[in-house]
Amino acid sequence: MSLTRKILLAMGGGIVVGLALGAYEGAPLVDDVVVGGVLTIVGRLFIALLQMMVVPLVLVSLVCGVTSLGDAAALGRLGVKTLALYLATTAVALVIAFGLAAAAGPGDGFRLLDDVAYDAAAAPSVVDVIAGMVPSNPVRALAEGQMLQIIVFALLLGFAISISGDAGRRVARLFDDLNEVVTRLVMLVVRTAPVGVFALVARTFATEGLELFVPLAGYALVVIAGLALQAVVVYGLLLRASGLNPMTFFAKSRAVMAFAFATSSSNATIPVTLETVERRHGVSGSVASFTVPLGATVNMDGTAIMQGVATVFIANVYGVDLGLGHFVTVILMATLASIGTAGVPSAGLVMLAMVLEQVGLPVEGIALIIGIDRLLDMLRTAVNVLGDCAVTCVVARSERAIDLEVFADRGAGADLGPAVRAGRSGATVE
Ligand code: ASP
Repeated sequence: MSLTRKILLAMGGGIVVGLALGAYEGAPLVDDVVVGGVLTIVGRLFIALLQMMVVPLVLVSLVCGVTSLGDAAALGRLGVKTLALYLATTAVALVIAFGLAAAAGPGDGFRLLDDVAYDAAAAPSVVDVIAGMVPSNPVRALAEGQMLQIIVFALLLGFAISISGDAGRRVARLFDDLNEVVTRLVMLVVRTAPVGVFALVARTFATEGLELFVPLAGYALVVIAGLALQAVVVYGLLLRASGLNPMTFFAKSRAVMAFAFATSSSNATIPVTLETVERRHGVSGSVASFTVPLGATVNMDGTAIMQGVATVFIANVYGVDLGLGHFVTVILMATLASIGTAGVPSAGLVMLAMVLEQVGLPVEGIALIIGIDRLLDMLRTAVNVLGDCAVTCVVARSERAIDLEVFADRGAGADLGPAVRAGRSGATVE
């Protein structure tokens, strides 16, 4: 059985077992031993293992990517294209969210309880994000896992290595070797995915339950419809327009989506996203090592859809009329805000608070939707990561940095197995 199939089975099994455990909530054996004990320990260990690799992997693979690209102009072009596509897909996601929410009117007639309270965490301001992109201390950036700062540092370091002659070549070789080793580590951890995914999903479904879903079904269904549209139609058209078969792409992205679903974190999924686009979709490491970490930080289309629908939902509940100007403001603000927000669980709520403030809606409204946010977070994170993969493939295609034979081969890399990866050094076939 391929690893992909095992992961998908683990996810399905986790949902079923989690719901069954939820039915016995309150029994000490279930609460303390199974859910609070075994499942929590296994789930946390698995997330920690994934997170453990993110910083070394991003640094090392991005330095290798830049040195093998070896050309500042190519890098600049890659950067502009990638950012433009990431921002454009997020803006489209918001338009979809508003369109659906305006048509469905979630929240009309929702009974407002007056004791709602929500403490909004401070969202990073756009100025802070841009001004803070260059790390004054790269070690601190690495220690704190500041993704944008790490990306900038790795880009500059890689560039310096490629213009340093013999010394640069020696350092580049060291990074190439490190890259090989870190990749092996990722593959080892990925082998444990079926167990980890099962534990995470079972635990969430056991503790969240679906009863919270009922009063908010209208809101949740509009979000889910938006996510489906974005995934199938927007990414499908984007891939088709660049000459890549969307069906092949979707089929080969299932495992990474299951990862994102289970972890609710684009950041923790980075190692698997990189493996997927390189080994399953055939994207060259020099492109993927740049677009994937950037996407995990900057590109959150699923989150944008939740924010769009939530804004309309909260406006409806509080009886506020949103005009076209508000929608435009939200699209701009939410798109920009997504740049500075890390791909971690519930990050979307922090950004939502900022969006609501911008259009003068009560931030406490978030308390209304928080009950089912955990489950929606899982779904939208899967779409966030799918968007990173789609844009990566499209950018790689335009840079002639995707191996079309690997892309078309449904079985390619299915086991994400420990074979030494080809194409890492940038050479690509078309
Ligand atoms: N959990 C999401 C992610 O990591 C962010 C969010 O919407 O909360 O991509």
